[in-house]
Amino acid sequence: MQKIQKINILHNYQKPSERVVDELRKKLLAANFEVSENYDDHADLNICVGGDGVILIGMKEVGFPEIPFIGINTGHLGFFQELCPEDIDRLVSHLKDDDYQLEQLYLVESAVCTEDQCIPLTGINEIVIKGINSKVIHLNINIGDETLESYSGDGIIVSTPMGSTAYNMSAGGSLVYPTLGVLQMTALAPINSRVYRSLTNSVIVPFNMTIELIPEYRDENSILIVVDGVQLTYRDITNLKFWVSERKLTRLTTHEHHFWANIKKKFL
Ligand code: NAP
Ligand code: MN
Repeated sequence: MQKIQKINILHNYQKPSERVVDELRKKLLAANFEVSENYDDHADLNICVGGDGVILIGMKEVGFPEIPFIGINTGHLGFFQELCPEDIDRLVSHLKDDDYQLEQLYLVESAVCTEDQCIPLTGINEIVIKGINSKVIHLNINIGDETLESYSGDGIIVSTPMGSTAYNMSAGGSLVYPTLGVLQMTALAPINSRVYRSLTNSVIVPFNMTIELIPEYRDENSILIVVDGVQLTYRDITNLKFWVSERKLTRLTTHEHHFWANIKKKFL
């Protein structure tokens, strides 16, 4: 990677972050970095100040750039953020000394198809398929060329490794190391009875294999899609496909392999 020179600061425009953003900007300028006024597509680094939302929403807004990012947490949990505001001096010296590593984070890509079009979607944490108005949804699930099951329940989470600690974890899914290029499919309250039979465990699907969900409508237009917490609805969805995206996010880290330390710090 070329030497870091030009830096964008992304934040969630909330009062508590402004102080941190000002301090960060001053310290970067004092160390002779260039800080862009407006978002610059040709910058060398994006520093995201906020909670996980500033990554989930911010990266989408700027089109999932190849520019590496690092987060400074001013939110609640900040799972994506390696640093807190007290670490600004340490960050600046790591950047000055070129003392950092880059990690690739996998994204989930989806094509949501209706009778006449397919809409592309990209998620950082996950894409969730749910019932509208709390209805049970029925989905036929294919993985690769095989039909796996007919699922009935509240919905399905398709999560990335980074998203495995978010909604997926609350739904009983496994934690997945971020360098594994896989997707995890986790069911929300799967129904098991003499009428319906669904897998209760989550399933890990490799790179290059597609998960396909085909809704079986018992109520009209009963499908809701939630991408990283943002709700979307489309009329008459015929099928949804999910795969590991070719695009990745690059995270700059000053502490290689900090995944397990982060799990301990944020959850235990
Ligand atoms: P939010 O209410 O702030 O998110 C819920 C919590 O999840 C926050 O504490 C957030 O951290 C944390 N979080 C986000 N991404 C994470 C990750 N990759 N690993 C661990 N924790 C993570 O809502 P939001 O900020 O819009 O975030 C949307 C996310 O909420 C979705 O992507 C979904 O994963 C999650 N969610 C969880 C549940 C559940 O667990 N039952 C239900 C719906 C949605 P910050 O405090 O730093 O924001
Ligand atoms: Mn949040």
